[in-house]
Amino acid sequence: MNSVGLYIHVPFCLSKCPYCDFYSVKYDEHTAKEYIKAVKRNISAYNGVKFDTVYFGGGTPILLWREISGLLTDIGGMIDNDAEITVEANPCCTDKESLDSLYKSGVNRISFGLQSSDDNELKALGRRHNAAMGEKAVKLAFNAGIRNISADIMLGIPKQTPDSLRETLRRFTSLPLNHISAYMLKIEPGTPFAAQRLELPDEDGYADIYLETVSLLGQNGFKQYEISNFAKSGFECRHNLKYWRCEEYIGIGPAAHSYYNGKRYAVPRDLAGFIADNLQETYITENDPADLEEYMMLRLRLSEGVDINELHRLFGIEKAAVLSRLSELPPKLYRRKGDIISLTPEGFLVSNAVIGILTNI
Ligand code: SF4
Repeated sequence: MNSVGLYIHVPFCLSKCPYCDFYSVKYDEHTAKEYIKAVKRNISAYNGVKFDTVYFGGGTPILLWREISGLLTDIGGMIDNDAEITVEANPCCTDKESLDSLYKSGVNRISFGLQSSDDNELKALGRRHNAAMGEKAVKLAFNAGIRNISADIMLGIPKQTPDSLRETLRRFTSLPLNHISAYMLKIEPGTPFAAQRLELPDEDGYADIYLETVSLLGQNGFKQYEISNFAKSGFECRHNLKYWRCEEYIGIGPAAHSYYNGKRYAVPRDLAGFIADNLQETYITENDPADLEEYMMLRLRLSEGVDINELHRLFGIEKAAVLSRLSELPPKLYRRKGDIISLTPEGFLVSNAVIGILTNI
């Protein structure tokens, strides 16, 4: 049996950031312990399955570092020896003890929600950490022995200027990081930010910010391998690559998603139900995920792009039809190397429109 990915959604935070619509509730120790028991029950139900990537996302997984260390010991037999094991962390809740313990229990990748190195921007985002705490947390992780460290940067924060963004990029790239995810601030309906009149960049402003970020990260050795993700060579996130390469993964926990045995399904956003049920409830989100549009949507997020021969093998599409569609696009939006087509950073900015044209076959 092939190994698959394991995603564990940890739905606890100390407080809610005003832009966030991820599923999380206020942390309390008792509920967290009950939640981890349910996680272990659900993972054990996949007896015989081997995991080559494990990803604790959230929420704020590092709050549960003791429980995560224990869980990894308990399910160790189901994890490949060379698995990538990631824990998402917020600098506010990270210290030497938690990082040392996670490293000893097999965690080899930490992903920090740093967002910015400007204290006013961090305050505007409602984050509980400041720039100094963020930098200290990254150094603590490195000193604990973890060599695969990622940070998130938020683009388009209210009052962010080209200079403050450049300064954030300068400071981040001087830290012992080898992976950076750069996401645009999105206003999600129902969040406190949605009820405020925030000054956000327009389409052109966003394009400028994005292209400058791609360029500055590239100059510092962080190669773009996905629309929003950049890594030094060999440090691309193996777990997240599974999503974009349409490979299988099992999701555990409220709000987790899975792609397993040819079906996409999700777990309801209900922590109490997850704890009470012997095995988590799931509902199908897609019965036939292997359609052309979805395949292109995921593959063209990646700089490695899509292979025209694979399109023929999977969907019976003729090469001439793909090339004819491609000729309708402005050349600055894509690259073609033999039979491989990929988008340029300019192409990533309009990827939905490009995919619409390419899949109109
Ligand atoms: S810490 Fe992360 S998951 Fe929790 S509310 Fe803030 S952005 Fe959302």
